[in-house]
Amino acid sequence: MTEIAPPSAPPEDLVRRLARIVGAGNVLSSDLDRFVYARDRAPFGTYRLREGHLPEGWPCVVVRPADVSEVADVLRLACEAGIPVVPYGAGSGVLGGAASLGGEIVIDLKRLSGIIEIDRVDHTANVCAGMNGALFEAELRRAGFTCGHLPQSLAMSTVGGWVACRGAGQASSRYGKIEDMVLGLEVVLPDGRLLDIRPQSRRSTGPDLAGIFVGSEGTMGIIVSATLRIWPVPAARRNLAVGFASLEGGLECLRAIMQAGLRPAVVRLYDAVESAARTQSLDAADRDLFLCLLSFEGPERIVAAEEAEALEMIGCAGGRRLADAPFHEWEAVRYQSYSPQHQAAGRFMDTIEVTLPWHALPQGYGRLRAAAQRVAPGAHFGAHWSHVYPDGACQYMTLRLDPAPLAEGEALHRSVWDAVERECVALGGAIAHHHGIGLLRGRWMELEHGAAGLDVIAAVKRTIDPRGIMNPGKLGLPAAATVRNSIDG
Ligand SMILES: Cc1cc2nc3c(=O)[nH]c(=O)nc-3n(C[C@H](O)[C@H](O)[C@H](O)COP(=O)(O)OP(=O)(O)OC[C@H]3O[C@@H](n4cnc5c(N)ncnc54)[C@H](O)[C@@H]3O)c2cc1C
Repeated sequence: MTEIAPPSAPPEDLVRRLARIVGAGNVLSSDLDRFVYARDRAPFGTYRLREGHLPEGWPCVVVRPADVSEVADVLRLACEAGIPVVPYGAGSGVLGGAASLGGEIVIDLKRLSGIIEIDRVDHTANVCAGMNGALFEAELRRAGFTCGHLPQSLAMSTVGGWVACRGAGQASSRYGKIEDMVLGLEVVLPDGRLLDIRPQSRRSTGPDLAGIFVGSEGTMGIIVSATLRIWPVPAARRNLAVGFASLEGGLECLRAIMQAGLRPAVVRLYDAVESAARTQSLDAADRDLFLCLLSFEGPERIVAAEEAEALEMIGCAGGRRLADAPFHEWEAVRYQSYSPQHQAAGRFMDTIEVTLPWHALPQGYGRLRAAAQRVAPGAHFGAHWSHVYPDGACQYMTLRLDPAPLAEGEALHRSVWDAVERECVALGGAIAHHHGIGLLRGRWMELEHGAAGLDVIAAVKRTIDPRGIMNPGKLGLPAAATVRNSIDG
């Protein structure tokens, strides 16, 4: 166990002032509470913890406001005192976006929960930002709707976290990503003012104000509610498991399906490594194929037509329908995390999701795998394509490095990230598809946006947050000089 003493308790005066806002029971200042909120699900924090190292950055104190006015009062206090804050949803982010750098007030938003209104005519839901994703979806289902945003982390994330991270759900190819669903937002700005971006189908009124906050990862303000598009629970759903003899054939087929205007809900094409793990229950002759899972949902006749059209296109691309088992097996674990066994074994395990244009695929797949394995020969590398567009796709890669001493494993892990992100940009792709930037990816933000692009984001941030209190050090934006970047090293 590394001997890092927890930082000293927060000043009594600060705790008293916060307690006057949120109530004494909602100010958490014990070592245990501050330890729990020091990190999110970023693997680097997990590696250190599993070897008995305490987090290096600890928040000063955690508060749990109950409503918008309490959020505003806490931000006003933090702004006046110049204390940094970290907005905290459910802490399921995987890049350190909600992790502490040391000394912040963590603002846990989970008490801002519940659906404020479902509009049955417009098909919209106004929801509090701290609402748990699975509870939100369950309540919508009871009302006959679905949100359509179904990330693997549904039960361990909040609606505000989806918006703040610019997330994508497993049915995104039909329902869109979170930015396609956000019609309006309420945001508390760092000085405590409430910005009300009224919900509209669209507007032609200058730059997109909501777009500043979608994907802002807590650096611009605190999202307190969102109005999202919702859909009626589909009347019909058809699931397909199909196999392709080649990866090229599978990718070409997905491109053709999207460019023909079909909109499958679930689309998952697996490379050879991931297919092998998911075809074990099939006949031996089918286990060498590249597995692809598809589902279509909506009105029965449209679903039947989409399925028939897709099957024809699959046949033309050299694919064929398989037994349904792989689809059901995926469905049974679709909201579970499958990394614990590798963490327990001491492996360095991570996922990297990037966007590639179709013209860069499939050779981009081989180039990204080669980039990773040049740095870490023999590393496990698997990939799938689970969010597809008429113009490109998300390549989601899973990496596992063998157990190694902490510093060595971390260094190798970082080098693999660097190699993959640089190769991705060289291929014309984007460095992140839906996990966001957090702390870990900040170093490639300039590569992604160019110096001018990053300057624009930083200038917007400076205007909204001149004191730099909002989640400093995240999104590749400079942290205040006093704030130490402990995770990014
Ligand atoms: C097993 C697993 C599977 C995952 N699968 C998916 C997936 O399928 N799709 C996907 O998109 N992501 C996925 N993720 C990543 C993660 O779940 C998402 O990024 C999620 O949207 C984060 O939500 P959260 O409430 O946990 O946010 P947190 O982790 O608490 O916070 C994330 C960031 O948003 C900021 N933030 C949170 N709430 C607010 C708010 N109300 N206002 C302003 N800023 C805020 C935080 O400061 C932080 O920067 C997965 C993660 C895990 C561990």
